[in-house]
Amino acid sequence: MNDVAETTISIISERLDRVDGALRRLREGSYRQCSECGAALASEALSENPLEDRCELHPRT
Ligand SMILES: [Zn+2]
Repeated sequence: MNDVAETTISIISERLDRVDGALRRLREGSYRQCSECGAALASEALSENPLEDRCELHPRT
């Protein structure tokens, strides 16, 4: 497998994990909450990125 394919696979896998996480949080009722501190996420942040699961204090690095 070449580097481009490996990079693409890792990007897609990470996205899938985040989609899985968002679906799970929707089912559990914790969507719109920071996964670190439980703070409510800003609507603007979620409309910009529906998969967002961190507040401003706990940015995903
Ligand atoms: Zn937080």
